[in-house]
Amino acid sequence: MSTPSQEDYLEAIWVLTEQKGYARVTDLAERLAISPASASKMVRRLHEAGLLTYERYRGFAFTPEGQKQGRLLYARHQILERFLTHLAIGSASDVHRIVEGIEHHFDVLRLDQIERLVTYIDSHPHWWRQFLDDSTA
Ligand code: MN
Repeated sequence: MSTPSQEDYLEAIWVLTEQKGYARVTDLAERLAISPASASKMVRRLHEAGLLTYERYRGFAFTPEGQKQGRLLYARHQILERFLTHLAIGSASDVHRIVEGIEHHFDVLRLDQIERLVTYIDSHPHWWRQFLDDSTA
């Protein structure tokens, strides 16, 4: 990943908070492969934007608005990953890398159609298999 965007931070904080119940600057830095100083700087910025509560030396947590955004950004990533996985365009790590590149261009509130398609494919695997076979023949 190149320089992580604010959306990447919010998504990563969501994942860390879900896994452990809290997030620390060091965990965040590790997950985004950046320096703790950069992570700390963005945490302060997200605090100023009203998305995190932050106390020096005590760490940080989502505000309700930050939590809502983090949840939506994570959901967007998952929907796009499921979609590209169905398209069988590469390995799991390829899919992850591609989603990291494209996800920011999808409005989080306009993913319903893609989610409907992915859910339909999940429940009609034979139909989808047929499509893949026919279209690559
Ligand atoms: Mn992502």
